[in-house]
Amino acid sequence: MRRQWKALERELAEALLRVASSGRYILGPELEAFERELAQFVGPEHAVGVNSGTDALLLALKALGVGPGDEVIVPTFTFIATAEAVIHAGAKPVLADVDPETLNLSTETLQRALTPKTKAVIFVHLYGSTLGIEGVAELCRDKGLALLEDAAQAIGARSKLGKAGSIGRAAAFSFYPTKNLSAMGDGGAVTTSDPEAAERVRRLRDHGSQGKYNHLEPGYNSRLDAVQAAVLRVKLRHLEAWNARRREIARRYTEAFRGLLRTPPDDPGSAWHQYTVQTPQRDALAEHLKKRGIGFAIHYPRPLHLQLALSFLGYKEGDFPNAERAAREVLSLPIFPELTDGEVEEVIEGVLSFFK
Ligand SMILES: *Cc1c(COP(=O)(O)O)cnc(C)c1O
Repeated sequence: MRRQWKALERELAEALLRVASSGRYILGPELEAFERELAQFVGPEHAVGVNSGTDALLLALKALGVGPGDEVIVPTFTFIATAEAVIHAGAKPVLADVDPETLNLSTETLQRALTPKTKAVIFVHLYGSTLGIEGVAELCRDKGLALLEDAAQAIGARSKLGKAGSIGRAAAFSFYPTKNLSAMGDGGAVTTSDPEAAERVRRLRDHGSQGKYNHLEPGYNSRLDAVQAAVLRVKLRHLEAWNARRREIARRYTEAFRGLLRTPPDDPGSAWHQYTVQTPQRDALAEHLKKRGIGFAIHYPRPLHLQLALSFLGYKEGDFPNAERAAREVLSLPIFPELTDGEVEEVIEGVLSFFK
């Protein structure tokens, strides 16, 4: 984050000053400009800025008509926000296993979770990869289910059906500081080509209001503020180049690690939010990297069906074997645009030395 600030200091400072001196901090022209630019970048006609990726999921679900009595299928191998949004919309999250290769939902894992109450499916583009969405989108179309993309990790990613965020009925993005496109605080957005859904998200994010002090339904305080919008406008101009640099780093890792551990599946369209390898020796590798001072992270050590917060759903160990194995075997290596070639080599050396 500090490296990104250093690289863009002049552009960002100018944007921050522009908003500070404008006196327009909530809604207004800066946000509208960002929404236009984001919609153009992602593809669908409408983009609506909200407070966070979590709220983007929640407001999108409500805008798609999901509520009490409905079931929404959510992969068990994701960040908990994906399921929380379903609960806060008043619906029931039904968890599904992930494909062992892509770690995303597949038609096969989705099919096992379908019931007559299924109303919607949330496809998470985990680690920035859209792999598997084509089949899932087709199945949703056949069954008349609403497809919501959790594209929090996938801004700029491409699939055969188009960019992440342009495939489902709606999509949620997060601008949390570690994401590929990041605010200086919390932020999120919903994209959709459905004008009514866009209108409903706009209303919900601002106390359900239409015009001033005219409230059509109970809503939320979930607006994206003008400071964040201005920061995001600056950074959006660099996103394609940043994602290209991530792709380059991923390519070098995969070349170096082939045969040693399970590298991420080939996906030329990935946004490479994470570069996540899988190995049964994960904990020993983590210990080795820690000793050498090489950064890593585990996304995620515990699938949703084994989280205390969701124990009321009644799942147990063994229910989703692919996710449980992934939770034991995944390890994410450093990948961000400002990583230098030398640092990439250090990471590679660190991993290779473990296997020697
Ligand atoms: C980051 C993230 C979210 C939540 O976004 P916030 O902006 O932190 O609320 C939701 N889903 C996934 C997959 C994420 O990675």
